[in-house]
Amino acid sequence: KMRNPHQEEFQQAVKEVLASLIPVLAKHPEYMKQSILERIVEPERMISFRVPWIDDEGNVQVNRGYRVQFNSALGPYKGGIRFHPTVNDSIIKFLGFEQIFKNALTGQPIGGAKGGADFDPKGKSDTEIMRFTQSFMTELSNYIGPDQDVPAGDIGVGQREIGYMFGQYKKMRGGYQAGVLTGKGVGYGGSLARKEATGYGTVYFMDAMLKDNGLSISGSKAVVSGSGNVSIYAMEKLTQLGAKVIACSDSDGCIYDEQGIDLATVKRLKEEGNCRIYEYVNVHPKATFYEGCTEIWSIPCDIALPCATQNEINVQAAKQLIANGVKAVGEGANMPSTLEAVEVFMNNHILFAPAKAANAGGVAVSALEMAQNSARIAWSFDEVDRKLHQMMHTIYKDSTEAAEEYGESRNLVVGANIAAFKKVSAAMISQGVI
Ligand code: NDP
Repeated sequence: KMRNPHQEEFQQAVKEVLASLIPVLAKHPEYMKQSILERIVEPERMISFRVPWIDDEGNVQVNRGYRVQFNSALGPYKGGIRFHPTVNDSIIKFLGFEQIFKNALTGQPIGGAKGGADFDPKGKSDTEIMRFTQSFMTELSNYIGPDQDVPAGDIGVGQREIGYMFGQYKKMRGGYQAGVLTGKGVGYGGSLARKEATGYGTVYFMDAMLKDNGLSISGSKAVVSGSGNVSIYAMEKLTQLGAKVIACSDSDGCIYDEQGIDLATVKRLKEEGNCRIYEYVNVHPKATFYEGCTEIWSIPCDIALPCATQNEINVQAAKQLIANGVKAVGEGANMPSTLEAVEVFMNNHILFAPAKAANAGGVAVSALEMAQNSARIAWSFDEVDRKLHQMMHTIYKDSTEAAEEYGESRNLVVGANIAAFKKVSAAMISQGVI
């Protein structure tokens, strides 16, 4: 805390991981001797830079850009870029720290990183987005590369922004290097099924967890927060597997549709850009809009998937979900539940799929995009989807087995942290004191 003052989200993420590792450290004194914990919480490199750009009125605007290259024990730095006004050192470090473990769980050769800027894309024109993104990449291009650091999208950064960044990188580096970014358009080196991967992967993980506990997605009622990339494809896969999704949201509030959310309308609203989720009610007058970010958690459901942002489920929301009979919670977003909310779920024996395991599908398919780029081949949608499904099942199995080994049966928070930590720390120890 003294080294990282005012970095609450980072401290929260570290606290959760370290608490899980107590039994591992007791069994393996070599980790303490090697100061693995002290090393793993310290980024290998943290870059922060000025991003000047010109808005449509001709005014010069300045934002702050970041890239934290947290850990390269397992492979090149890998992690998304977030454009959101709340981005700061703490947010980027918490996301980068989580990314180390998530990436380890995928079994792919990728290290952990994260980046972004405190830029608010809302209400910006396409040319403003392009100018900002180009300025951001002009500086970032000094620190990334296909074998060094491979960014991707996150909140506020989708295929359009990745495209602009890719174009600018090419211009800065004098040539096409497919492997420098993932989440690219399929027409120029992107992987099929990448845009679906995080949402689909979260549902595959949930499916494995439910089946292992004698339950099923089919016939269940689900609520999914957010209405962005992760949320939309989580809703799509839930529906394909026979669930009825009755609510989703954005930062204004949530829509409740007893008939089941019409995904085509949500997709259209989001594709139109600058559209808000309350506009759904204009198309489906029987649906209801509730104002406020946490309203969605008061809607009774069997399955809850927080897929919007960090700390969106607090203790009160967790208790409300339980009172309404929720059976399983799966984190599609990064750290969407507060530490206290997670404790409430665990104490009440709710099946709980933690983010770093449940939402690892996105980065797992990003690693497959890197592999396809290196080999100059393109796999079919079904082939990528099959590999994603397999990876999510393996992550579930590894996390369950690690929890079992340390006497915390069915505690996937502990299991995922331990399974990932063991892989990263083994590689760090093999590579000496670096
Ligand atoms: P998007 O920008 O595509 O969508 C984010 C959605 O969340 C938007 O609908 C946004 O609404 C909504 N939202 C933001 N803040 C709140 C809030 N306080 N309450 C309710 N809704 C809110 O981002 P992604 O879908 O890509 O990312 C969502 C989460 O998933 C993030 O935590 C991200 O880190 C994580 N993640 C994403 C991956 C990916 O592959 N994209 C991979 C792994 C994790 P609004 O438009 O009003 O802001």
